[in-house]
Amino acid sequence: MDKNIQNELKALLLKERADLEDNLGRIARPVDKEKGDYEATFDNIGTDREDNTTEVEEYTENLPVEMTLEKKLQDVIGALDRIENSTYGNCENCQKEIDIERLKANPSAKTCIKC
Ligand SMILES: [Zn+2]
Repeated sequence: MDKNIQNELKALLLKERADLEDNLGRIARPVDKEKGDYEATFDNIGTDREDNTTEVEEYTENLPVEMTLEKKLQDVIGALDRIENSTYGNCENCQKEIDIERLKANPSAKTCIKC
């Protein structure tokens, strides 16, 4: 892969990682930030029954969002790892090079269009 294109995609990935960490930081706390491992949280409003119900509701709302963001973040971290290991841009399935246009649209893509 062309170095300039790779640097361009790396910049996109770093930006995406920062955005995801920012969003995750509002609803979750990092367990292992390097791996993109987060745990959903909720505001500790109070201890009476009504407060606890609100907390559970908030947690229930945050959890699916947290899981989606976390998965995306792990994909981005995986892509950055592959850049370091010089395996970036190859399809995980068939090992062929992933189309540049596809990577530009989604820099953390793991597989080619066919797979
Ligand atoms: Zn493939």
